[in-house]
Amino acid sequence: THKFMSGLSKTSASLVGAMDSVFARGKIDEEMYEELEDILIGADVGVNTTLEIVDRLRQEVKAHRIKDPTELKPLMSEILVELLRGEDEATGMNIQDGQLSVILFVGVNGVGKTTTIGKLAHHYNQQGKKVLLAAGDTFRAGAIEQLEVWGERVGVDVIRHQAGSDPAAVMYDAIQAAQARGADILLCDTAGRLQNKVNLMEELKKVHRVIGREIEGAPHETLLVVDSTTGQNAMQQAKLFHDATHLTGIVLTKMDGTAKGGIALAIRRELEVPVKWIGLGEQMDDLQPFDADQFVHALFG
Ligand code: GDP
Repeated sequence: THKFMSGLSKTSASLVGAMDSVFARGKIDEEMYEELEDILIGADVGVNTTLEIVDRLRQEVKAHRIKDPTELKPLMSEILVELLRGEDEATGMNIQDGQLSVILFVGVNGVGKTTTIGKLAHHYNQQGKKVLLAAGDTFRAGAIEQLEVWGERVGVDVIRHQAGSDPAAVMYDAIQAAQARGADILLCDTAGRLQNKVNLMEELKKVHRVIGREIEGAPHETLLVVDSTTGQNAMQQAKLFHDATHLTGIVLTKMDGTAKGGIALAIRRELEVPVKWIGLGEQMDDLQPFDADQFVHALFG
């Protein structure tokens, strides 16, 4: 949790620090609600989600006849936890004990996909699981080698073909290899070029299909990796990928480098896909399982 607190300190300052000064002014009025809206939107919570949050706050104030704005802070934190938790509670990873679980990673170049795969490989490796990586980004120069560097660092093997080869064939081979070696977890990288979106989405659909054909119920997770510093752009990307691959979770990277971590709320609410992991740095163990309570706690101090 210490890591969580320090990693989220910028967002905490911009969001909760700013709220504190509004609540400290001593009066609940229209101006206060408007300032709260500005703060939330400024932290990338998104317009719709912001309006919903402030609306809920107004209802609480009315229902409990609250006069003192300092009472609003715990209410705010409750509302955020509820929003982040969502309806389904299915925020954990769908990992099958005693059989191979396939996790597919999608996302635009540069968001931190390779790094996240490396971190997760480390995470599961540490739990004593046998992990294998599939180098499914055969398009970007250097992508395969970059994954191999992570493989070496963590101590797990990478299944690869040559640059330019068919990613679906890489996945097929990787699944065969994983099964032959009795692996528990197969983490699959994919391309993230956006020059030709239609082409990329077709490629991802095919990769998804091939994995599903080899193992029933696979991929067990399809995680979209999102750079939290890119703000509302991230929302656009998320929608695009969700349409193509039916996402089961989101990884929000670079939360340590942004004051706009409110994007977690926007994504959770508007996409209705749970955030499952948070990236808080560039090192192997800078990845935290997402937990709504912990997250909001870290923000509110
Ligand atoms: P990819 O193109 O999506 O595979 O992105 P990379 O994994 O190569 O990451 C791009 C850059 O972002 C690298 O310099 C990473 O070290 C950095 N990065 C990835 N995740 C995080 C994170 O959670 N925090 C910070 N500060 N940097 C990150």
